[in-house]
Amino acid sequence: MQKTSTHGTTLRRGDPGFEKAVLGTSFTARDPGRRPEIVVQANNVDDVVSAVRQAALAEMRIGLCSGGHSWAQNHIREGGLMLDLSRLKSIEVNPTKMTATIGPAVLAGELNLALVPHKLFFPTAHAWTVGLGGFLLQGGFGWNSRNVGVGCQNVIGIDVVLADGTLVHANASENADLFWAARGAGPGFFGVVVRFHLKLHQRAKFIGMKLQVFRIKYLEEVLAWADHVGPSVSPNVEFQIVMNPKAAVINAHGMEIVAPVMADSWKEAREMVAFMSNSPVRAKASFTLPLLPMSLNFMMKAGEKTLFLSNTRWSADNMWMDTPIDPLLPEIRNIADTQPPHPSHVLWLNWNGPVQRPDMAFSQEHRTYLALYCGLGKGVDESNYANWATDHMKALEPWSRGIQLADENLARRPARFVSDANMVRLDQVRAKYDPLGRFHPWMGRV
Ligand SMILES: Cc1cc2nc3c(=O)[nH]c(=O)nc-3n(C[C@H](O)[C@H](O)[C@H](O)COP(=O)(O)OP(=O)(O)OC[C@H]3O[C@@H](n4cnc5c(N)ncnc54)[C@H](O)[C@@H]3O)c2cc1C
Repeated sequence: MQKTSTHGTTLRRGDPGFEKAVLGTSFTARDPGRRPEIVVQANNVDDVVSAVRQAALAEMRIGLCSGGHSWAQNHIREGGLMLDLSRLKSIEVNPTKMTATIGPAVLAGELNLALVPHKLFFPTAHAWTVGLGGFLLQGGFGWNSRNVGVGCQNVIGIDVVLADGTLVHANASENADLFWAARGAGPGFFGVVVRFHLKLHQRAKFIGMKLQVFRIKYLEEVLAWADHVGPSVSPNVEFQIVMNPKAAVINAHGMEIVAPVMADSWKEAREMVAFMSNSPVRAKASFTLPLLPMSLNFMMKAGEKTLFLSNTRWSADNMWMDTPIDPLLPEIRNIADTQPPHPSHVLWLNWNGPVQRPDMAFSQEHRTYLALYCGLGKGVDESNYANWATDHMKALEPWSRGIQLADENLARRPARFVSDANMVRLDQVRAKYDPLGRFHPWMGRV
């Protein structure tokens, strides 16, 4: 029976509302088939402490969920206690210090809107509804992240409920090993982060986007050019190619070159995306949208409404690459030829990150990134596409340098997600703070 008290709302298997309390947390409409024994919906930090203590007494493992956008539905595990943090949504901005303190369930779009009046900025996830809890722990490839750093790099402190129910603060000088782990451990972090303390940035004076659309027959030419020019593209430009069965404007299978840019002026931004106007493939574009100013809020909503539809059964997989793209092109053509219907899509991203980052668990990034998102709407037969993302990534494994946790598929295809040295260190810090294994580890790793 549902029990609401000062300890949050608790539902057990078989209770009315239990199924909704589990599956309703998830962005993807897929049913993973797994179910926890108990769900606790926390209303505040005290509820979190009490739920973690309850799990310890019952010797239960804990699964955690903030915004529920894990493609793999990492929080929905078999057995144990699922702790739903989606009500922890506070936002406090300190414009003078250029910092913010947020609850883990604040969404990307909510933080962005809270910062607009202060002319401040944080590199949130690209889609409006992504929860910052999971986003910040896994790394966080956010808006303008090539310039201002990945999300976790801009976390300056965390408040964490540990496996024994104690609430601690961690930053670069206090519980520094826990802080190190929280910046990159992602869906294998071993504590409940109830508050993130963030460093903010000045908002760019110009925010906008340029778009070019090509038919899929030009795939090899466009990707070879993009891969070649990528390293010289300004870090202020998020240069990416989306292979979309219903590409913008042409409404047919094509490639959208999407280039959001943040700069000091429209003129400067135009110079930064000039590589698209001057490209040798440009004449083959079916459509070009010149660089236009756009609000971040609009871009976040538009991207989600066109590519990341809800009520869709999603699965994803991904890989980092370092080598030039040429030997991969036959398999990428194969990916395009077998692409499931819209809103399924493929992302090629020019990353070329900085040579050095602060010391943190996040430690894997390479020259370019490829991710496959299979999104099946109602009525689409899953059996044709169930393995599309996983199988094509397996085929490309000889060129893979590992994966991003953002789009992880570890349960079905285990892969390296931090450096080998950091994996050893993560296991050591986990053993110190969660010796009894109260928190579920990464899927695919028991
Ligand atoms: C539509 C869409 C767009 C996306 N866009 C981007 C993007 O632009 N850039 C990018 O980097 N990623 C992106 N992602 C991936 C996204 O960042 C991750 O899935 C992230 O985990 C989502 O966070 P969440 O809180 O919503 O997810 P959740 O599913 O709630 O969390 C994922 C996991 O993180 C852990 N976790 C979550 N909250 C806490 C907490 N408070 N304490 C401890 N552990 C916790 C848990 O293990 C949990 O299972 C996108 C995903 C989707 C679905």
